[in-house]
Amino acid sequence: RYNFNPGPAALPLGVLEEAQQQFVDYEGKGISLLEMSHRSKTVEELNHETQLLLLSLLNLPKGYEVLFMGGGASTQFALLPMNFLRPQLTANYALTGSFAEKAYKEAAYLGRTHVVASSKEQGYRGIPAWDAPDLSPNAAYVHITMNNTIEGSRYAEIPEVGDIPLVGDMTSEILSRKLDLAKFSMIYAGAQKNLGPAGVTVVVIRESWLEQASSEIPEIMRYSTFAKNNSLFNTPPVHAIYMTNLVLKWTQKQGGVEQLERHNLAKSDLLYEVIDASGGFYQGMIDAKDRSPMNITWRMANEELERRFIAESETHGFEGLAGHRSVGGLRASAYNAVPLEACRALAEFMLDFARRNG
Ligand code: PLP
Repeated sequence: RYNFNPGPAALPLGVLEEAQQQFVDYEGKGISLLEMSHRSKTVEELNHETQLLLLSLLNLPKGYEVLFMGGGASTQFALLPMNFLRPQLTANYALTGSFAEKAYKEAAYLGRTHVVASSKEQGYRGIPAWDAPDLSPNAAYVHITMNNTIEGSRYAEIPEVGDIPLVGDMTSEILSRKLDLAKFSMIYAGAQKNLGPAGVTVVVIRESWLEQASSEIPEIMRYSTFAKNNSLFNTPPVHAIYMTNLVLKWTQKQGGVEQLERHNLAKSDLLYEVIDASGGFYQGMIDAKDRSPMNITWRMANEELERRFIAESETHGFEGLAGHRSVGGLRASAYNAVPLEACRALAEFMLDFARRNG
């Protein structure tokens, strides 16, 4: 089947097969990785290798730490302000979609917040323009959602924020395009799209910023605890980290981020071209300049037609094309592991469906 699920999402077949092979007897150790102590040399090495692989693929300069945490990307919505939103400071948020809004709401429970810009009034049709002067005085940080999974938009460029720490939720686009990530003080991503299975969240944080994090919150909530203990303070999601390790090696084999970016653009172009050439049969949900190559969203004339499209697509082998329940419409999520053939097949199906129903 062609898997367009939004997350948990398609994984490379080779990765699943490799994990299957290692499942019962991990690397000839006689037991499964699931049964192994996280204090064992094997797991420590796996952990370390995975951190280095990620840093190298992200092409970051020295001075960043990789943390493997639990709780999903949503937990980061709360941990970020817990660690960095001091009473005299203001947390800045750009609202570009429902995950951005959730991140903002969590911060608002904890301290002073400021909305730098919002496209909510426009139904999150795109990325609102904003500039460094729109930020509050005494900013603790600026939080952005680089790719808006539900709506299907993304920042074309990383915004300039001067010397205020920039934090990016990269859950639905990490390792999908070349970006100068050194502009960020911290990025984070739930693994379940471009990195591996649900269960592990990666946080990549600049060491010099980490030094400013609060030490007045419970230890388990502190980024510094994870950094000091090499993400082994408590029991980490070992198997999810292992799967992430395999996905990172697969990413390397594809030629890294540069090759994947080319591949991802070719894939999403196929679908956006069908949408744009359909004479309004398919209506893109996002302003063309802000469209995401990861999540391609569109509507059709009415919900009945959309339901028919989804039902027929399922019988033709396509999985996961219904839009998020909060926005409706259709969404094809074409993360790194989705092959070009899947997008080509979907483009053909869309053309055929339009011919038959237009
Ligand atoms: N942020 C973005 C951009 C997402 O796409 C998601 C999930 O899809 C989340 C945050 C929430 O992630 P989690 O379910 O891991 O908490």
